Amino acid sequence: MESPLADILAIAAHRDDVQQTCGGTLLKMRSLGISTAILDLTRGEAGTRGSAEDRGAEAAKAAAILGVQWREALDIPDGRVENTYENRLKIVDVLRRVRPRVVILPYWAGRHPDHSNSATLGYEACFLSGLAKIDTGTQPHRPFKIVYASLYADVRPSFVVDITPHIEERHRALMAYESQYANQGTGSGLFVPEEEIRERTFSVARHYGLLAGVRYAEPFVQKETGLVEDLTMLPVQSM
Ligand SMILES: [Zn+2]
Repeated sequence: MESPLADILAIAAHRDDVQQTCGGTLLKMRSLGISTAILDLTRGEAGTRGSAEDRGAEAAKAAAILGVQWREALDIPDGRVENTYENRLKIVDVLRRVRPRVVILPYWAGRHPDHSNSATLGYEACFLSGLAKIDTGTQPHRPFKIVYASLYADVRPSFVVDITPHIEERHRALMAYESQYANQGTGSGLFVPEEEIRERTFSVARHYGLLAGVRYAEPFVQKETGLVEDLTMLPVQSM
């Protein structure tokens, strides 16, 4: 199937990562008329709860709620996301088909090695994707911008995105992962009860919102220094 183009591609290790770290931002971008897509690097077969098939169906449901144009999962083994040339090429192929201007990657340090490895792997794939000599049968394409979703990282964000009007929809997208989040016996000592998920995710969004004087927000880190044209138009009040 021919993939549609998207302005923004969010890449993450696991099928419920994007909903947690930048789902509100994808909803916000869609509301601005900007097209979005999601690439999950793994299919979730190593999860305590649910099968890869369950998670595939849930990912599609969440994608529909988030209004993304395109979502696909690669076949990189869950729990073994490694920065290999082979894996980089798999992502290059997607980048050249989707041709995003902006790529969202997980923050490069984190508890789960799949997340930090995805950041490095994704970054290197974005670089390789721009090289004409790497022939994947598709035209080279290098994204203009990479930003890192830093919700779970203990770092000061470079900026936050106001997701206030989209917080309920984001929650619905996350709860589409019934095999992971609905109350059940399997892994009940390991997983947060459903009622608590709402409180936790809303509190985190509230925390990031407060940093910029809005209600709910999602945080991002960019490696580049920002560029300002007009000092009088800078957002976020100082005091
Ligand atoms: Zn994850």
